[in-house]
Amino acid sequence: MKVKLADKHGFCFGVKRAIKLAESHQGGITLGPLIHNKKEIERLKNDFGVTVEESVENLPRGSEVIIRTHGIPKDDLAKLTQSAEKIIDATCPFVTKPQKICEIMSQEGYQIIIFGDINHPEVQGVMSYSSSEPIVVMSPKELFGAKLKEKVALVSQTTKKIEDFLGVASFLVQRCAEVRIFNTICNATFDNQEAARHLSQEVDIMIIAGGKNSSNTKQLLSICLEHCQDSYLIEDESELDPQWFTNKKTCGVTAGASTPEWIIERVVRTIEGYKG
Ligand code: SF4
Repeated sequence: MKVKLADKHGFCFGVKRAIKLAESHQGGITLGPLIHNKKEIERLKNDFGVTVEESVENLPRGSEVIIRTHGIPKDDLAKLTQSAEKIIDATCPFVTKPQKICEIMSQEGYQIIIFGDINHPEVQGVMSYSSSEPIVVMSPKELFGAKLKEKVALVSQTTKKIEDFLGVASFLVQRCAEVRIFNTICNATFDNQEAARHLSQEVDIMIIAGGKNSSNTKQLLSICLEHCQDSYLIEDESELDPQWFTNKKTCGVTAGASTPEWIIERVVRTIEGYKG
């Protein structure tokens, strides 16, 4: 089977930076998983003794705590400052940006609208920086019936699709007197999505490697499905089904921003071994 890799795929700047920080703080504890990739989290635990604690209350006093790429809520940060021996901040700068925007714009009296998944840790962190209750939506439809103010400020979860973000922006522009729109979708997400969109139009099957709980990986799957019905999301090569490749000639491969190169290489090698 012929395999084509997306021009841009895999580890982004924010994830590379976070992993380097974790590797250089052996025995550190991350508050929530550092990134959304179980295999890489396991590797950090086995090779560097970096463990995960879900709640700030359960952290042993005096620990070295690593803040995940997605950031954490403002209150948790305040508690950590009191209890941790050392805080290593691996929050991606692309995530810090919407946090700061929400803080400043809400202080200036703008109602904050966040386009994203309210259950995602990044969004929960960003929400906490708004001094007034923000509205969080996954689509413009969810804004019907919402009590919108005259002045609103819109930010996006970093890993969302730009077309969907523009849909929310357009809805607001038609209904509010003043709309401040901040495109906080990160460059890595945008580049990976464009490369996946392009590749999925020229292959018979697309494989997306990445964590099933990773937002940017799920977005890649959704983009690939728009152009290639035979698109599959897998965490690693063990989830590949040889039957998917029957009568196929070319397979495209892309990977989420938190998928390490060693997983991508194994996936590619396994697919190359299929007859098609
Ligand atoms: S996907 Fe974007 S926001 Fe998320 S860690 Fe990578 S660079 Fe940062």
